[in-house]
Amino acid sequence: MDKKQQVEQLTNYMANFVAYIGKVLPDDIIAKLDELAEKEDNPLSKVIYDTMKQNQVLAKELNRPSCQDTGVLQFWVKCGTGFPLMGELEALLKEAVVKATFEAPLRHNSVETFDEYNTGKNVGKGTPTVFWDIVPDSDQCEIYSYMAGGGCTLPGKAMVLMPGAGYEGVTKFVMDVMTSYGLNACPPLLVGVGVATSVETAALLSKKALMRPLGSHNENERAASMETLLEDGINAIGLGPQGMGGKYSVMGVHIENTARHPSAIGVAVNVGCWSHRRGHIIFDKDLNYTITTHSGVKL
Ligand code: SF4
Repeated sequence: MDKKQQVEQLTNYMANFVAYIGKVLPDDIIAKLDELAEKEDNPLSKVIYDTMKQNQVLAKELNRPSCQDTGVLQFWVKCGTGFPLMGELEALLKEAVVKATFEAPLRHNSVETFDEYNTGKNVGKGTPTVFWDIVPDSDQCEIYSYMAGGGCTLPGKAMVLMPGAGYEGVTKFVMDVMTSYGLNACPPLLVGVGVATSVETAALLSKKALMRPLGSHNENERAASMETLLEDGINAIGLGPQGMGGKYSVMGVHIENTARHPSAIGVAVNVGCWSHRRGHIIFDKDLNYTITTHSGVKL
């Protein structure tokens, strides 16, 4: 294959992958929704979980997105410096989104800021969002694809706390966001928390935290313990599925962190909804792919 053919193949793979993740939820999310459905005991919660399940069956059967809001596409790229299409990646991801928009189809979710018109193609200035992690001495490329819907984007918040606010301040910040906006994001939620040195590092990490598999924990045992405490605290709010009340509000709480300036605590929250459409695909240098989030997919 020459370079042009490789670009075309990777564009097609990514367009198909984006279309697929809009219709089929990741394996870990499906398993968690089943688990929570089992654990809830009030009749309304049961009906809502049954409806979510039926929705997933029909999305697959009718080949339609599992939620009408297919979001703004965001890609987290972990690219080896030896990956042959590194320079072409950003442009081809944009092209893949346009292709998926018409083929899947996806809702048109790119409105040019200040000009106030919908591009009709799901791409615009800076959309899809592409975040980069460059990996030295590697020739493979991992791509996390995420559909950031409006409702689940809404609770997003970041700020810098005074150092004296401590971990109690972080907890208060997260709980304030959850009690005021958690409802808007179609629970049960996946809550990403960034604790870092500034507002932008915390915000980026809170989104990155949503890419982690459910059931995973921060490698620091104190951070991992805070994940569990926050999960218990947010569950105790009793949002339940779709915010209609229930024993469980969240599918999980993931914290990502960096070291920080001693005089500041950057903190941020990002939220994923029950229809948490994220997919993880790894390409080797010959464009053979492995999908870790969804089993049995052929692109
Ligand atoms: S929050 Fe999620 S499930 Fe609810 S409308 Fe938005 S994308 Fe769809």
